[in-house]
Amino acid sequence: MADTEILVIGGGIAGASAAFHLASYGRAVTLLERGEIASEASGVNAGGIGALGWGNVPDLESYLTMGSLQIFKDMQLELGYDIEFRASGGLQAIQTEEQYVYARDRVLALKSRGYTLELLTTDEARSIEPELSPDLYGAMHFPLRGQADPKKATRAFADAAAERGASVLTGREVTGITRTPEGTYRVACTDDEFSTRRLIVAAGAWCGPVGEMLGVCIPIVPVRGQMWATQPLPPRSFHSLSSAESYAHWSQHPGNDARTPPELTHVGSTRVTRHLYGRQNRDGEIIFGGDRELAGYDYTVDAAGVETNFGHASEILPILSGMSINRTWSGMMPFSLDGRPIIGKIPQLDEVYIVSGLASSGFGRGPMAGRLIADYVATGHRPPVLAESDPARCVTRLE
Ligand SMILES: Cc1cc2nc3c(=O)[nH]c(=O)nc-3n(C[C@H](O)[C@H](O)[C@H](O)COP(=O)(O)OP(=O)(O)OC[C@H]3O[C@@H](n4cnc5c(N)ncnc54)[C@H](O)[C@@H]3O)c2cc1C
Repeated sequence: MADTEILVIGGGIAGASAAFHLASYGRAVTLLERGEIASEASGVNAGGIGALGWGNVPDLESYLTMGSLQIFKDMQLELGYDIEFRASGGLQAIQTEEQYVYARDRVLALKSRGYTLELLTTDEARSIEPELSPDLYGAMHFPLRGQADPKKATRAFADAAAERGASVLTGREVTGITRTPEGTYRVACTDDEFSTRRLIVAAGAWCGPVGEMLGVCIPIVPVRGQMWATQPLPPRSFHSLSSAESYAHWSQHPGNDARTPPELTHVGSTRVTRHLYGRQNRDGEIIFGGDRELAGYDYTVDAAGVETNFGHASEILPILSGMSINRTWSGMMPFSLDGRPIIGKIPQLDEVYIVSGLASSGFGRGPMAGRLIADYVATGHRPPVLAESDPARCVTRLE
């Protein structure tokens, strides 16, 4: 049995970043990933990095987004990993008068709190993103938003962790966890067994099943996201793109209940709104996605959903209407039931931590989420900003 001081379960962006930062502290850390690094959500997402600035009173969201933005930049510019990072800025299209009212109020409210965004006329938006439709009512501009390649970026964290001495093991599925009388955890996985004093659960949409191995209920549910890509084409689109339609809807109807997270596109199998995000990647593909559906762990791409999403994207970027879809894919997003991250120490257990619940924006927030949990574990002191994501609010002991 191999001994390790700290064991991280999950090689997505959250786990890989936690391992990287712990190794940077000089701590002995082992990361176990059942597939390859970035084989789940962290490798198949749209690569959008959301950021609005620190605001007048930085909260957890400011830390996660702005902290991650800086870590992505450092990964590419200081550490020299080509993760295709670009401070592209983002544009959110406004398609109706109702969306315009929502966007205007949002911009005013966020600017008064010190965040960085602007409301643009359609001409202003088209002067920085020429292929946008002239039929828009305007666009919100988020100059700090960025983008990066999700697989390359997540692997960079794992590689940088290994370079600093972490043991990064793939093809190792954790199948059972027991507590010994000496106070250590025995972690059984494919072909191996490990002993550790500290565990970090970073298993994304599978935190629930890993929690069961530890005797706790971690209320994270898998939400299926799906995407499509065109054939590669010369550079035509420069920003991260999205639409205000879903946000205007969710601002009135978040849609959550005791078993359903907020801000999904479907209730049961019925669509309640259209959500849209995408960009042109370095290979030249235009990629878009949007749907967020509860479907268990079923990865089947819903063709009707892709068609709706393609139609929506074509309304905003009319060059798409003459093109066809070249490939589609899906992935599982880890949503908590209240929609907020779960990052901290699990109060019912000794020295077990979790970094998850990063939902639909965990690529852009994962690097700092991993850094904050690493700070907590390495120093023994909870970063004050993690009070907002305390697992005590929702993790319970299994009966
Ligand atoms: C289609 C799609 C588009 C998205 N677009 C964006 C975007 O543009 N911007 C953005 O910020 N976010 C986006 N997201 C969300 C983002 O991808 C996720 O929030 C983020 O990747 C979650 O990271 P994670 O490390 O928590 O989970 P994951 O990436 O799922 O990693 C968890 C890992 O744990 C492993 N694991 C699970 N159980 C075990 C076990 N028992 N033993 C060992 N290993 C285990 C899994 O194999 C997996 O690799 C998107 C997601 C999807 C699906």
